[in-house]
Parts: sequence; C-alpha cells; structure tokens
Amino acid sequence: MKYVDEFRESSLVKKWAAALHQITTSPWTIMEVCGGQTHAIVKFGLQDLLPEQIRLIHGPGCPVCVTPIEIIDHALYIASLPNVILCSYGDMLRVPGTQTNLLTLKAKGADVRIVYSPLEAVEIAALNPTKEVIFFAVGFETTAAPNALSAYLAKKRGLHNFSLLASHVLVPPALEYLLQSADNQVQGFLAAGHVCTITGYSGYHRLSSQYRVPIVVTGFEPLDILQGIYFCVKMLENNEAAVVNQYQRCVSEQGNQTAQEIVDRVFKVVERPWRGIGTIESSGLGLQEAYADLDASLRFPMKECSLVEENGCISGLVLLGKKKPSQCPLFGNKCTPEMPLGAPMVSNEGACAAYYHYKELI
Ligand code: SF4
Repeated sequence: MKYVDEFRESSLVKKWAAALHQITTSPWTIMEVCGGQTHAIVKFGLQDLLPEQIRLIHGPGCPVCVTPIEIIDHALYIASLPNVILCSYGDMLRVPGTQTNLLTLKAKGADVRIVYSPLEAVEIAALNPTKEVIFFAVGFETTAAPNALSAYLAKKRGLHNFSLLASHVLVPPALEYLLQSADNQVQGFLAAGHVCTITGYSGYHRLSSQYRVPIVVTGFEPLDILQGIYFCVKMLENNEAAVVNQYQRCVSEQGNQTAQEIVDRVFKVVERPWRGIGTIESSGLGLQEAYADLDASLRFPMKECSLVEENGCISGLVLLGKKKPSQCPLFGNKCTPEMPLGAPMVSNEGACAAYYHYKELI
C-alpha cells in the first residue's frame, strides 16, 4: 500500500537506524507524544534498534486516556436517562467511570450506539426526532474538526434534538505543561503527525525556541519514527532547537485551514481537566456561546460528579512519561484489556494496552 509499505521497508529502517547510531554520542530522552506512535514503537520493536543512550518515554497523546472521569460519569448519566440515544466512538465504551462503563449500560438496555463518524449521529438525530441524540465528542485537534462539522450541520438542518458532550483537548498546552514541570526529563518531542495534519505546526515554533527543545512532526510507521528520532537527536547533538517536519506527505506548516475554520466557528479554547494529570489552562475546546444550545452538559446537567479515582491506577504517571506501564503494580494481573482498571489499558492508543499486547517483545 502506497505511503505505508515503503515506510516499513526493512532495509531503509536498518539504514536509518545505522545513521542514528553514527550521530549519537550522548544520552538523550525523547518523548513520542502520540499513543499511535507508542504502539508502533512497541509493536515493531523499534526500541531495540536504537543506540542505548536514547531513552524513549511515552506521552499523553491518547484521547480516550485523558478524558476526565467526571465527563465519563456525565456520559453514563446521560445514557441512563429515558428517551436518549448516546452515540460514541467504540473505544470509549469500555473506559471505566466511577461505577461502570457505557458497554455495561448498553448491555442493561441503554441506547448507546457506536458510530464511526459524528455525522452518523446527526443522521440518527434526523431519523429519531422524538429522541434526544447526544454525540460523545472527545479527542484531540484531529477529531475536533469533524465533531465541529456535526454541530454546524445539525444547527443548519434545525435538528434541535442533537447535542454534543464535548471534552476536547489540545496538544501544545500539554507539551508546555510537561516542559514547565520541575522534574521534566524530556529533551525532544516527536509531535503527533495526525494532529498536525489539521493544525499545521506553526504553533510549535514558540515552544521550541522558548524552551530550547527540538520538535519533530512525525508519522506512525517504523521509518517515520526512526527518521523522527534521527532528526531530533541530530538537533540535540548540535545544540539546536527547531521544528522539523518529518511527516511531509501529510502535514504542511499551516495545516488544514478549512478544518481550522470550522473548529473556530464552533469551539472556543477553555481550561480542561486531563484524566490522571489535572487541569491545564487553555488546554481544551468547549462550545462557543452561539452553540450553547447544542451543549449536552448544559442540556443534561448532572448534580454530582466524581473527581477522585481510587482504584490504584497510575495512568497520570504513565501519560506524563514518568512510569512505564510495566512499572504499574496492577499491570497484567488486576488490569488487563479484558478487565481494564484505567483508560490506557482500553484504548488502541493507550500505552498500557500496547505493552500488554506486545509484552513478549518488551
Ligand atoms: S496498567 Fe492499568 S491500572 Fe496500571 S496504569 Fe495502566 S491502565 Fe492504570
């Protein structure tokens, strides 16, 4: 398959790994931001190809993992109300809330539907005018664009029974949060290529120069990741800090401006709590005032919400790269993909699930 096979070509992977060995003279700690990159690193055994001086740590780029428990509980509350249809991407269904998860509610009779696009939820609303249809809108900048489009189209079509339970998060504020933390160890970032497909990477220049940190916009195949690490290490070895675009086949500096326009029309930047991490200023998206009538959190307010997780899950430390999943005492025994105690064990982008599925490679 074009754009995939050539980025898995073993001879090229070995060539870039050899080049990386040649330029590496010092120890460096690099964070791959996205859970999709973590999965590729673990699945393809890329860590074994790296010079021993290079330490990769896994970042917070798993949208399901960082969705706060109070929003999960709010979705569970809404799904349990009469006369509603709650639509969600499939990986949210098994993420544990305080007491239960959406899959269990669905098994008990709640009308919870898996959709592959928020536009499917808009159609469900059109077909069910006597029901309230809520789309559980989570994720980073990548999913914010189609979710914004769904709100825009629902409003345009006059679908008053459609709303969004929105909990979007933004990548750059999370990276700045990491860089500002007193015990930060990250010296370079592999930025999430798919997010930059939407946002571009012009916003990373300030971060790179202010914190003197190399940032490489990186894809998701083995060669992408090795090249991303190579460009990052090259800058570190030369004491340079800049933004480099490894993922040129998908990403431009300015990104997808049509997508950005629809996001800006529907959403505004807000403070957002991140599960296991805490609240980060200006790190999320909420609905604009003009779209407040589509805000499910206002339409279906919940009186009580839980802010504390007490099941021993250390997902916050995993998401900040401070612990490896295998360092969690619950990993693989009390917490498995079949019985997940935390979101990183559920999601396809979760680091704990990556370690579990490919543990014989670690
Ligand atoms: S292994 Fe399970 S309990 Fe431990 S951090 Fe990962 S998700 Fe949480």
